[in-house]
Formats: sequence, structure tokens, C-alpha cells
Amino acid sequence: MQRTVLTPGALAAASVLLAIPASAAGFSPGAPGIGDPYYPAYGNGGYDVSHYDLRLKYQPATDELEGTATLLATTTQELSRFDLDFLLDVSEVRVDGVKAAFASSGEHELEITPKTALPKGAAITVVVRYRGVPSSKQAYGFTSWHRTPDGGVGANEPESAWWWFPSNDHPLDKATYDVSVQVPDGAQAVSNGTLQSTSSRAGWTRYNWRSNKPQATYLATLAVGRFDITTGTTESGIPVVNAYSTALGDNAGAARASVGRTGEIADWLSGYFGPYPFDALGGYVPNTTTGYALETQTRPYYSPRQFASGSNTSVVVHELAHQWYGDFVSVAGWKDIWLNEGFARYAQWLWSEHEDEGTAQELADYVYASHPADDAFWTVEPGDPGPENQFDVAVYDRGALAVQALRNEIGDDAFFAVLKGWPRQHAYGNATVADFRHYAEQVSGKRLDALFDTWLFQPVKPGAPAARTASIAGPAAAPVAPKSWKRIAATNAVHAH
Ligand SMILES: [Zn+2]
Repeated sequence: MQRTVLTPGALAAASVLLAIPASAAGFSPGAPGIGDPYYPAYGNGGYDVSHYDLRLKYQPATDELEGTATLLATTTQELSRFDLDFLLDVSEVRVDGVKAAFASSGEHELEITPKTALPKGAAITVVVRYRGVPSSKQAYGFTSWHRTPDGGVGANEPESAWWWFPSNDHPLDKATYDVSVQVPDGAQAVSNGTLQSTSSRAGWTRYNWRSNKPQATYLATLAVGRFDITTGTTESGIPVVNAYSTALGDNAGAARASVGRTGEIADWLSGYFGPYPFDALGGYVPNTTTGYALETQTRPYYSPRQFASGSNTSVVVHELAHQWYGDFVSVAGWKDIWLNEGFARYAQWLWSEHEDEGTAQELADYVYASHPADDAFWTVEPGDPGPENQFDVAVYDRGALAVQALRNEIGDDAFFAVLKGWPRQHAYGNATVADFRHYAEQVSGKRLDALFDTWLFQPVKPGAPAARTASIAGPAAAPVAPKSWKRIAATNAVHAH
């Protein structure tokens, strides 16, 4: 994924210099960033959003999106002004029903100045009217809105909201969503959660989706195109809605043979992670040319390329594992990405074992042996990889190695208790790597600071795994790949988040 890391910091610094208190009464502008050192301009300060109501209209032929976003929020400081993150063209903003001044600044800031300053702790309603062509808008030189022959898709990490709705764009500010999208008859609109209703009028059909559990902004998704939509129910009773582009061609069978097992796989994962935390499930496969998959909440996004060489349940396991590790419990800051990717990758290893294609230990041994000590792979610290390496393969593979090292250190009973207990510890909230270590120490009764430091926070190959195997630290023999390896590696080659 392409990103520029210097520009946001420079922008945030510039904004701080301009942040002059607006009045003598102590009211001041909210910060233009929420305080994430990896991405200083992402999110905003001064308020917390509880709900997004997005009422949109999208024309696939021209990629024109128009809409009204209604945000329910609570101020967390006295505010003379506050920011949203957004790229499309705004025509009107109202705060508590009254027209507010607004201006664009930086790469993606929408500065809103209400007519009267806002006290701390106030419940506010912000209405933003807007329109634009999402694919024509860039920030830091890229776009996360993928145009398709029959529509468009908003799905990316960490940035995807800017192209289709104004938000406080950081996982720390989760909210519920109603996403209502009008599209021309014959097209469908796919989003998160439950399809509440559809209605047709004068050649247009409106799709009303609801996501009723807290959801991070990057986990909100919208896809418009021509889809075959299938519905079902898991053995545990959760409704499943999958959507497949009608233009998948040779990939259609493999996509359906993989995403079609979503319910079964979610039930299997719940044996390790606890009850599925949301009341909707599914996945969608639009006809994009991008390569990755993404854990968009309740309904992951899959590129057709994930299924280009046959069925791929491993990537479905990865994205569904994120529903617990990433969505139910989200990162507190982007440096905590190991809590997402280390565990989603480890779930693929558990699935490999389930499918009799190699045990988690065999995969760990293989990863360890495949990367010699001078491989740059070991210079990436999964516990704090830096924004430039946030989605480096080492965050996934070395990250899963760290999970296996933890398992070997504390034993299976404590390990699986941690795996299942952790999501409930921070249900619908956020957490850090340090929070996870403390929890694992509490459950296992062992001090784990040295183990975590070795596997997550050192830019070198750990000398000897805290593992059972003497062989993997011994003389290098050509490592033999477990049967599942090719599939897991292929998943990564096209960049699964
Ligand atoms: Zn992932």
C-alpha cells in the first residue's frame, strides 16, 4: 500500500502553530489529529462520535456520489472549532440545526466553526451535505476509492472513509452506522451489518444497511455494482449475506467455494475466540483489480485475485479472525497492529492444522528457518513496526511466530484461555500490545516482558525460540514447507490486511 508518512506530521505541526485560542472564554479549536504518532493528522480532537447516519445517492456511470451525513457526537472539551476528515465537496454544514462556517485545510481536514462555541460534554448533531467524484480525489497522492466497470468500492486501511463520508477517522472513535444508498435499478449497494430494507422509485433502488455495534471508521465499507447476493444462516443462528460481482468470470466458482463457507468458518473460529461478537456475517467480492482483502466489519472485502488460483478458505479465516482481533477489539494506536495481524495470521495456522496441512508449530518452524539471521525480515519489530512497515509481511509472519512463542512459553491451557478471553476483556473497545501482555501474564501467572521484548521489539532474529525444538536453532537445513504454506504465502503476495 502506498503512503507518505512525512507529510501528515508536517501538516499537523503546521496546524498546531495556527491553533490560536478563538476567544477569551477558554474555547479553543479541537486538535486536527487524535494523537496517533504514526499518523498525526488522522482523527481529530475535541469530540467523540456515537453514530453516523449516511444518506447517499451514487451513480455508477459517472462515479458521482452525493449525500447527507448526520453525526451524533459529544464534545470532550470547550470548542470554538473542530475538524472532520473528508475529501469531497461540501455545500453546507449545520451544527445543532444552525448553519456553520466550514473550510478545507491540509490533506483531508474539514474545519467546522459553529455559530456559537460549544461547551464541554455537549451532545451535538452535525449535518454535512456533500457531493463529488470519489475516484478523482487524492490525499498524500493516493485514493482508496476503487472504480470498477460497474461502480465503485471504498475499502482500505488505515484510510478509506475520506472518500465517502466525513468522520473522525481513527479506530479510537468507534460508532454505530446507518448507511442508506440509492443506486440505479440493476445495481446493488453493499455495506456493513444487516440489510434493513430496500425500496424502489423512479428507476432507483435504495438499500438501507445498519451496523448496530461500535465500528471503527476504516471498517466501514461501501460497494456499488452488479452483485449476486446470497443469504443464509450459520449453525449458531447468525444471518449471513454474501455478495459476488456478476463479472467475476473464471474466479466466480473459487470465490463462492471460499466466501460461501463464511458461516462455517466463523463458527469454527468461535471455538477459539469466543462467541461471534456481531449479529451479521458475510463477505463481498467486487470486480476490482486491487489485490488485497480487508476485515470490513461483519462483511469482509475480498479482491477476486485472492481466488485466482483456486479456492482460498485461508484468506476467509484471516479476515473473519479479524472480526474478533481487530474489529471487536481494535488497536488503540496504529503501532498496535500486531494485535490484528499476528493473530489473524495465527488463525490461518490453526486452520492449516484443522485441514491437516501442517501444524502451527510446523509453520512456525518453517517461517523461522526460512529467514536467515541477516534477512531484513528480522529488522521489522512487529510490536512497533513504524508506519512504513505497518503491513510488512514480517508483521504477519514474525507476528504469528511471536504468538507461537507465547503458546510454547505458557502452555496450551493458558494460551487458549488467553486467546478466548482477550476479546471480551476489551469488548467493542480498543487496546494496546502492553494491555495484551498484562492480560497474558495475569492468565498464565508468568512474567512475559522478556518474551515479548525478544519476539516483538528487537530488530534481530531471536537466537533460540522459547520453543521445544532444538532443530530449528541448529545447523541450517533446507526448510520443508508445510502443505498449507503455498496458500498462506499467496494470500500475502496479493496483500491481505
Ligand atoms: Zn489482516
